[in-house]
Amino acid sequence: MAAYKLLLLPGDGIGPEISAEAEKVLAVLNEAGVASFEVERGLVGGAAYDAHKQAISEDDMKRAHEADAVLLAAVGGPKWDGVPYDVRPEAGLLRLRKDLGLFANLRPAICYPALADASSLKREIVDGLDIMIVRELTGGVYFGEPKEITDLGNGQKRAVDTQVYETYEIERIGRVAFELARKRGNKVTSSEKSNVMKSGYLWREVITALHKREYADVTLEHMLADALGMQLVRWPKQFDVIVTDNLFGDMLSDEAAMLTGSLGMLPSASLGAADEKGKRHAMYEPCHGSAPDIAGKGIANPIAMIGSLGMALRYSFDLPKAADAIDAAIANVLAKGLRTADIKGDAPSTVSTKEMGDAIVAEL
Ligand code: ATP
Ligand code: MG
Repeated sequence: MAAYKLLLLPGDGIGPEISAEAEKVLAVLNEAGVASFEVERGLVGGAAYDAHKQAISEDDMKRAHEADAVLLAAVGGPKWDGVPYDVRPEAGLLRLRKDLGLFANLRPAICYPALADASSLKREIVDGLDIMIVRELTGGVYFGEPKEITDLGNGQKRAVDTQVYETYEIERIGRVAFELARKRGNKVTSSEKSNVMKSGYLWREVITALHKREYADVTLEHMLADALGMQLVRWPKQFDVIVTDNLFGDMLSDEAAMLTGSLGMLPSASLGAADEKGKRHAMYEPCHGSAPDIAGKGIANPIAMIGSLGMALRYSFDLPKAADAIDAAIANVLAKGLRTADIKGDAPSTVSTKEMGDAIVAEL
C-alpha cells in the first residue's frame, strides 16, 4: 500500500475545528486501506507567532519540504493585528507558497445541486456550474521589480508596480491548464490584456505556441480579461478551464467562486513544479479565511477543508477514486438536507461542524 506523509497546519480561528473533521476523513481512508497516510502537525500564522514569535518555524518549513503534501486550514485574526509585519500570520502562508515554489493555484468553482435553489441565501447561483480557474501564483505584478513609492518632493509621489513574465513561467502554468482540461471538458480559455500589455502579448504568444506544439487536441480560446469578467457573469457555463495571470486570476477566481453561492465551501490547491522523480510540492487549503467571528463555537462549515483534502488525493496522491468518493459524500449530505449555519437558507435546522464531519464520514 502506498504511504504518504501529510503536514497538517490547522492555523488559527476555525482552522483547528475544521482540521479535526478532515483528520476523521483521513482516518477512514487509512482504515479502508485506500493508502497509508501519516499525519504530522505543525503551526502556522498566529498559532506559530504565539508559540515562537514566527509566522512559521524553520522546523515546520523543513517538514513542509519533506511532506508529500501540506494541508492548511486558515491563518489570521484580530488577535494578531498589531504583530510586526514580517511575522504577521499571512507571512507564513506567503513563505510556504514562495519556498515550495507553488506557482499554480487551482480553484474549482462547483455548484452543488442541493444548494442551487438558494434564493433564500440572497445570491444568484448558477446550477450545474463546474469550472476550474488556474491562476499563476508566484509571478506578475505582485512580485515584479521595481515596486516602490518615490517622493517627488513637490507634494507629489509616484507609485510603481511592475508586471514581469518570462516564457518558462507562462509555459509551465499553461501546461497545468492543458493537462487539467484533458481530464475535464477539454477546453482552455487563456486570458490576459494582450491589446495593451507587453506581458499579455507574450502570454498569448507562448500559450498559442505551447498549444500548437503539445496540446493541439485541446480546444484553446483567448479572451481579454475584461471580456472574460463580463462573460463569466453573462454565461459562465461556456467555460471549462480558465488560465490567467496572478492579478486577473485573483479577481476572476473570487468572481467565479461566488457564482456557486458558497465561497465558504470551496477548496483550493497550489502546486509546484515536478522534480526529476516526478514529485511536486503542493499545498491544499480552503478558499475561506479563519472566520474569527465564529471561531470556537463549533458551527464552522468543514466542507471546504474536507474538499481540500479531496484535491490532495486527486493531485498529489493519484487517488482519483477516493477523491470522487469524498466529493460524492459531500454532495450526498447536502442532498439529504444537512446544513451548517453559513448555508442554512430556508432549512429548518442546522448542524454543527462535528455533525457535518461525521455525516460525511458516514457517507464515505
Ligand atoms: P481572509 O482575509 O483570511 O480571506 P476574510 O476576512 O476574507 O478572511 P473569512 O475568514 O473567510 O473572511 O470570513 C468571511 C465570512 O465568512 C465570516 O463571516 C465567516 O464567519 C464566514 N465563513 C468563512 N469560512 C466559513 C466556514 N468554513 N464556515 C462558516 N462560515 C465561514
Ligand atoms: Mg478574504
